[in-house]
Amino acid sequence: MIKKCDHTGCDKAGTCRAPKSRDLKDYWFFCQDHASDYNKNWNFYSNMTPEEIEADWEKQTFGAPLKDKEKANKDSADYANFINDFLTGRSKFDNVTSKKSLPSKIISALKVLDLPITITWRDIGTKYRMLAKKYHPDTSKQKKNTSTEFAKINEAYKTLEIYYKK
Ligand SMILES: [Zn+2]
Repeated sequence: MIKKCDHTGCDKAGTCRAPKSRDLKDYWFFCQDHASDYNKNWNFYSNMTPEEIEADWEKQTFGAPLKDKEKANKDSADYANFINDFLTGRSKFDNVTSKKSLPSKIISALKVLDLPITITWRDIGTKYRMLAKKYHPDTSKQKKNTSTEFAKINEAYKTLEIYYKK
């Protein structure tokens, strides 16, 4: 099977290889049109220092290079850690509990879903769908205890829905 072009939304075959970064360790696979677009940018960037490339990227993304670099780096590192924890099922729940006050039943419900209290409603939905799929009696591989777990998750989600959607 031929890989599809890595450009979002493009269905053509990804037959052209383009380096993802200056160390040339990783590659995109683009169709001819998107490879040529990419190469224009690549050539443009290849004369710049990594700092200049970053400043340019920030300018295009945020409208201006970021002034507080340390904070921006810390924020993105925190976010990456959070996503990592989220995906591996660990959460920073205990570290953040003291920073924000929520009703105790909301805190318990978030604990059932293994989510930090800083979570947004949208991310609660994502985690819920993940867990519901995992523990749904019809789809779960380990049949034992899954319906109890499934009921617990549903109850927690309902509690959170009332609180976050009001
Ligand atoms: Zn393409």
